[in-house]
Amino acid sequence: MRMSHVYQPIMIKHLLENNGRAKAEEIAVDLVQNDLSQVEYYTERVNSMVGKVLRKNQIVVKEKNEFELIGYRDLKEKDKDELIELCQRKIEEYKQKRGMLIWDHRRKNRSPIDGSIRYQVLNRANNVCELCGIPSDVRALEVGHIVPKNWKGIDDLVNYQALCYKCNANKRDTDDTDFRNRVALFDVRASYGECNFCDTSLDDILFQNNLALVNKVNDSYYIFPKRHVSDYLELKSAEVNAIHDLMKSVKKILVAQTNGTSGFDIVIDQFDGSLKEHTFIKMTPVHYTTR
Ligand SMILES: [Zn+2]
Ligand SMILES: [Zn+2]
Repeated sequence: MRMSHVYQPIMIKHLLENNGRAKAEEIAVDLVQNDLSQVEYYTERVNSMVGKVLRKNQIVVKEKNEFELIGYRDLKEKDKDELIELCQRKIEEYKQKRGMLIWDHRRKNRSPIDGSIRYQVLNRANNVCELCGIPSDVRALEVGHIVPKNWKGIDDLVNYQALCYKCNANKRDTDDTDFRNRVALFDVRASYGECNFCDTSLDDILFQNNLALVNKVNDSYYIFPKRHVSDYLELKSAEVNAIHDLMKSVKKILVAQTNGTSGFDIVIDQFDGSLKEHTFIKMTPVHYTTR
């Protein structure tokens, strides 16, 4: 059963328990509390972040799955109330000062992603993590830039991906080192030297997006990454997305031209006649004869 299947009974139950009326925000809190993928997400945060820090500072100890406040048994009721009050004050202060920004750690690059972009990216990813394939109702998915903004990543669909929080956390760990090299990803079609594709200015581009372009020779459509890459499997996910988008456009053209009666061959190849080879995808219509 998908998480979304349980939304309706949660909302109806919430309304029944609150005299038939409730604010959207209150219902949302109920949804979050019942969303196991969110609970799992924050369990991980407790263990690896806040719990770890509090252990290090000798405020809590951990035994098996439980955290225990050091010295709790020696606290008088009055002390407990005072401490709770103190914590509550800190929380309120923080909320007021930062508003919703408190939850920023869940967004990458600290720039909020437009809801419709989020929707499109999750939709394209079929609501599964684009790295490990885990579905969104098992583990919360985060939408973020593939190449981060601070490394010149662009705000374009091709540069977004949906990752589960675990894959995303692993990715973030490598951000600083990894992306220094990846900035080159967007320095597209620089003259590369000895690559016929990169070194020639193309005037027969049929259409293109940020990272890839299409041209046509005879019956075949050629889709090139703009960056010089000789091995297709060395392309970055943003480039694969960009190429995939163009393949869809080519498919539309082919289907329209042939009233949907033909299929096509897709070949991964390298640019002919170059000293340095440049990878591309070739789509050629196959005309079936109907019997
Ligand atoms: Zn994942
Ligand atoms: Zn090239």
